[in-house]
Amino acid sequence: MAQRILILGGGFAGLFAAREVKKRLGAKAEVELISEENYFVFQPLLPEVAAGSITAPHAVTPLRALLKDVFVRKARVHSIDLDRQIVTVFQGVQRRPTEVPYDHLVVAMGQVVDLSRVPGLADHALTMKHLEDARQLRNHVIEKLEHAEITGLPEVKKEALTFTVVGAGFSGVETVGEMKELIDRSLKFYPNVSPEEVRVVVVEFADRVLSELPESLGKYARKRLEDRGIEIMLGKGVASATGTRLILSDGTEIPTRTIVATIGNAPSPVVRGMGLEQDAGKIAVERTLQAKGRDNVWSLGDCALIPMKDGAKERDDFAPPTAQFAVREAKCLAANIAASVEGAPLKPFAYKSQGALASLGARRGVAEVWGIKISGLPAWLLWRAYYVGFLPGFSTKVRVLLNWMMDAISARSVVQLKGAEPPAAHYVHYRAGDRIYEAGNRADGVYAIVSGAVELRHQGNDGRETVLILGQGDHFGDGILVGEDRRRSTVRALEDTKVLVLERDAYLQMVDAFPVLKDYFNAHLRTTFGVEPMPGKRAS
Ligand SMILES: Cc1cc2nc3c(=O)[nH]c(=O)nc-3n(C[C@H](O)[C@H](O)[C@H](O)COP(=O)(O)OP(=O)(O)OC[C@H]3O[C@@H](n4cnc5c(N)ncnc54)[C@H](O)[C@@H]3O)c2cc1C
Repeated sequence: MAQRILILGGGFAGLFAAREVKKRLGAKAEVELISEENYFVFQPLLPEVAAGSITAPHAVTPLRALLKDVFVRKARVHSIDLDRQIVTVFQGVQRRPTEVPYDHLVVAMGQVVDLSRVPGLADHALTMKHLEDARQLRNHVIEKLEHAEITGLPEVKKEALTFTVVGAGFSGVETVGEMKELIDRSLKFYPNVSPEEVRVVVVEFADRVLSELPESLGKYARKRLEDRGIEIMLGKGVASATGTRLILSDGTEIPTRTIVATIGNAPSPVVRGMGLEQDAGKIAVERTLQAKGRDNVWSLGDCALIPMKDGAKERDDFAPPTAQFAVREAKCLAANIAASVEGAPLKPFAYKSQGALASLGARRGVAEVWGIKISGLPAWLLWRAYYVGFLPGFSTKVRVLLNWMMDAISARSVVQLKGAEPPAAHYVHYRAGDRIYEAGNRADGVYAIVSGAVELRHQGNDGRETVLILGQGDHFGDGILVGEDRRRSTVRALEDTKVLVLERDAYLQMVDAFPVLKDYFNAHLRTTFGVEPMPGKRAS
C-alpha cells in the first residue's frame, strides 16, 4: 500500500521536499502538503516587492501549479498527535478541525517573527517575512511621503521622513537598500520634500553589517550604503519603540514613524507544542533529518536545527537558515524517506555552500561565490541571474524578468492601493511627555490604559477646564458615543504608557450590541464630564 507522506509548510523546505519525495517514490507514496497560504513566496525577492520593482502577485507562484501529483490542503496546522500519527488542522471558512493521518511526517513550518522582547516593537514595527509585509511596507513608505508633502508641522515632517531598519543581516541590508531606492526614485513626485530632509538609518547590534559574508564584503556593503546616504549605527540594540520614536540601548532617540524590524526569528508556537525534542528553539534532528527519537518524523528548513557533523556544538556546525540550504536538505530528506520506506540505510545531510549573494539596491551588490569575492554591478547582475534561475515555475521567472525590464525603463509607481485596514483593536506605546491627541483632532477611537499614566485636560461647554490623571484600567476618548467627531480634550502621557485603541466604528458597534456597555459609558460620561447621552445614536 502507498505510504502517506504528510508535509507541513509550503516554503522552500516544504515545496522542494514534496517535489523530491514524489519524484523518488512515485506511486509508492501518497504525498500531501499542508500550507496556510495556497502560494509559494520567494522570500529573497520580498525587499524588491517592498520597493515596487516587482508587483506583489508576480513574486509568488500557486503551490498547485508547482506541485503535480501532490495533494495540497490550504489549512492551518493546529496540533500533532505523534502516538496516533494524526495532524489536526483548521480548514475552510468555518475553521472546522480536521484530522489528517500520516505514515511519515515532514515538519517544514519555518519560523515566526517575535518582537515581544522589546517594548512597543511588535506594535509599531513593520516586518519582512510575508508577501503582505512587503506590500504593506511599500504602501507605508508612500503614505509617509504623501504626509510629509502636505504637513505644516516641521516635527511631523521630520518623523515622516525618517525611515529606520533594525538588523543589518541579509534581509535588513537588502530591505534598506531597496527602500532607499524607492524613496530616491519617488521624490520627484513630491516637490515639497527635498532629498536632504530624508533620513534612512540601519541599527545593528553586531559591530558589522552582513556578518554572513566575509568582512571585506561587509565593509564594501557598508561603504556603498553610506555613499547612498544611509546612516549605519553599529553595536547598538533597540530598547523600545513608539509610534513616533525608536529608542536605542544607549538612550539615543530617533524620531521616526517607520520602523522595519528584520530581527526576532523565533519558533512558531505550533512547532513548540508538537512534543518533539527542541534545541535552541528549533526541532532537534539527527544528521539524517529524522527528529530525535522518532523514525517517521522528519524536519528541515528554518524550523530545524540540523547538525553538519557529529558532535556539533558551535553555530557554524549547524546548517544555516537559508533557502540555499533548505533546497539541498529537501533532496537529502527525500532520499532518506525513500530509503526508510524501502528498508535501505539512511545517509547524513552534507552540503558545502557555493557562496552567498546580497543585493544593495541601486544596481549594486556583494557576493562570494566559490571563494571569489565580487562587488558592485557584476555582483548585482549575478544576484539577479542566480535568483531568476532559482525561482520555481517558468511563468513566475518570466513575470519577474518583465517586472525588472519595466522597472529599468520607467519611473517607480507611487500609486498607493488601499490595503487591509489595521486591526480594530491595537496597542500603541507612548513615551513620557508624548501627546496622545489634542483638542480639535479627529476623534478616531477609544483608548484604554494598559500600563502607565496620562493627563487629560477637558474643556466643558461652560468653558471650565477639568484635569484628570488617569492610570491603568482607566479609559478616555469615549465622547464618540455622544457624537463627538473632534476631540474636546488634550491627552499627554505622564510616563511611558501603553494603551489599547479601539477604532471608532468598532467601539460604536460594540456599544450598540451590548446595552450594558452603553449604560456604563453613558453613566461614565455623565458623572465625569456632565455630558448627557444622545438618544438613539447608532454606529455609523
Ligand atoms: C527578506 C528575506 C530575504 C532572504 N534572502 C535570502 C537569500 O538571499 N538567500 C537565501 O538562501 N535565503 C534567504 N532568506 C532566507 C530564506 O528565505 C529562508 O531560509 C527560507 O524561506 C526558509 O524556508 P522554510 O521552508 O524553512 O520556511 P518558510 O519559507 O518560512 O516557509 C514556512 C511555511 O510554513 C507554513 N506554515 C507556518 N505555520 C503554519 C501553520 N500553522 N499551518 C500551516 N502552514 C504553516 C507557511 O505558510 C510557509 O508556507 C531570506 C529571508 C527573508 C525573510
